Amino acid sequence: MRKYTTSETIIANVPYVVMVLLGAVTLAYTGGWSAWRFAGVVGYLAYGIVGAVWIMVFVCPYCQYYASTGCPCGYGMISARIVTKGDRDCFVEKFRRHIFAIVPLWIIPVVCGGIALWRSFSWPLVGLVLAFVGEAWVVLPIVSKKHGCAECPQKEQCPWMARGAKDAQHRPA
Ligand code: SF4
Repeated sequence: MRKYTTSETIIANVPYVVMVLLGAVTLAYTGGWSAWRFAGVVGYLAYGIVGAVWIMVFVCPYCQYYASTGCPCGYGMISARIVTKGDRDCFVEKFRRHIFAIVPLWIIPVVCGGIALWRSFSWPLVGLVLAFVGEAWVVLPIVSKKHGCAECPQKEQCPWMARGAKDAQHRPA
């Protein structure tokens, strides 16, 4: 099993952190400043943190890399400090059930940015929405699949990687 160094673990978290920061900046640019907008930006940042903890609590205990430096992003080590180990056979079920808790992080800035652009067009906001889409929907999945997930011995059971394998199978040669 490959073991990740602290610097590799920190680097593995960069795409997610950049996505959450870009999402928050996008939300901040969706209109004039107000208490509601401020609450939305802070709420999105908090959701980014809670989403990561959610995965550590509800998915990582069932993973082969729980309490191990084999976890590319370090969640497995943090998980071991806050929750007890679960049954590995439940990994796929837990992944499928809980991954949806964080999916809105990928959608909220695009929906809010799109609505704001429909109401009042702005090139800076177009740039932010496009940057967010590129980071969240293109860069982050590619980095995950090419980096940590590609070396994961449980990728055959992982719904995330299984979907990628099916996509590849259905891609024209
Ligand atoms: S590989 Fe994924 S599911 Fe496994 S411990 Fe790391 S973050 Fe959690």
